[in-house]
Amino acid sequence: MKAIIVGGGIMGLCVAWGLARGGHEVELFEQGSLPNPLASSMDEHRLIRHPYGEHVGYARLIDEAYDAWELLWRDLGQRLYAATGTLALTGNGADWAERSASALASIGKPMSALPIDELPRRFPMIETKGVERAFWIDTGGVLFAQDIVAALVRHLARLPLVRLHPGTPIRSVDLERGRVITAGGAVHDADVVVVAAGAWVGRLLPALATRLVPSRQVVIYFDLPAKDRTAWSKGPMIIEKTGDVGLYLVPPMEGRGLKVGDHEFSRSGDPTAERAASEDDIRPLLERCRSLLRGFERWRTDRLKACFYTVTADERFVVEKQAAHGWVMSPCSGHGFKFGALMGLELARTLASGRDATAHARWAAGLEATAST
Ligand SMILES: Cc1cc2nc3c(=O)[nH]c(=O)nc-3n(C[C@H](O)[C@H](O)[C@H](O)COP(=O)(O)OP(=O)(O)OC[C@H]3O[C@@H](n4cnc5c(N)ncnc54)[C@H](O)[C@@H]3O)c2cc1C
Repeated sequence: MKAIIVGGGIMGLCVAWGLARGGHEVELFEQGSLPNPLASSMDEHRLIRHPYGEHVGYARLIDEAYDAWELLWRDLGQRLYAATGTLALTGNGADWAERSASALASIGKPMSALPIDELPRRFPMIETKGVERAFWIDTGGVLFAQDIVAALVRHLARLPLVRLHPGTPIRSVDLERGRVITAGGAVHDADVVVVAAGAWVGRLLPALATRLVPSRQVVIYFDLPAKDRTAWSKGPMIIEKTGDVGLYLVPPMEGRGLKVGDHEFSRSGDPTAERAASEDDIRPLLERCRSLLRGFERWRTDRLKACFYTVTADERFVVEKQAAHGWVMSPCSGHGFKFGALMGLELARTLASGRDATAHARWAAGLEATAST
């Protein structure tokens, strides 16, 4: 089989990896450089964690996601991950952590409830003001996202079955025929075309533009005193919802930055526009950091980064067959990276075996335990 993939983010690269492992020919087209710094996948880190609110289907896939990353580490010859454990905090009527804990208990992965008065002893870097419930699970950690993407590009570039075309925007796709046309007018055909175009997907497939919505998100990298950096460099990752702003904190594992972001969707913005971010973008997030993080007055904003989610109404992934010879692959809503290796391997398996496309779409949407009927 020959496949054409549009997009060289984690999804396009991982499906290329899965297909090449199965002995299939792949041509991958990327509009920017490979890797493209503007891709959603290109940031220092992305989190993987079991707590998933009431989305038990995705919680259940985390073990398989870890297995898929293990396979990738073996193929790459390096492990681009650091374990941190996961601390989930809630208060002020928010109950995401409680919902996560009960969903995980139902699938045999219990979180431990931490008494609030134990928090300062265990995590002296955190202020407990506003925190009413705390839950802990030993699993979870940081995937070194941009290093993974760069290593995958290098790996794929060495494989005889794979041809990478950086700097080659695709102008149009014909998923009925399995055809793409580049901005330069070159026509390429294949048995299957997979559109993994991230936040740009609506430009190629306008019918999906209202379902897959670009959402500009700003994250903050902090410069912190050496003592605080040492304390945070062993983790934990924090997922917090105790006020109007819910935040996540990515600890500075193995020399990477400490990053804070939120999971409030802007549902606006244009991925092709200027990516500058300003203090206005982050004011509520800074306020929450001030009340949650001990010694925060000594921290300085190192840099802001504007990045794009591709959001669906229910935050479920869209990996769907669109026509006889074409698929769209959009696992995002701000939580897709952790599943990149798994989504790539499984889509490659479905494409190669002719497994039922509807079953695959339901699995990717977190609605079925397996990708086959
Ligand atoms: C701030 C932020 C924090 C996040 N945190 C997490 C997290 O902690 N954990 C987690 O699991 N996930 C997280 N995510 C989500 C995750 O990063 C995304 O789900 C994932 O990276 C999407 O990968 P992708 O390959 O679909 O898209 P992208 O990485 O954007 O790749 C798409 C590629 O397609 C290319 N392209 C588009 N159109 C064309 C065209 N016409 N021709 C050729 N090439 C084209 C683009 O240039 C781009 O390189 C986060 C995302 C953001 C923005």
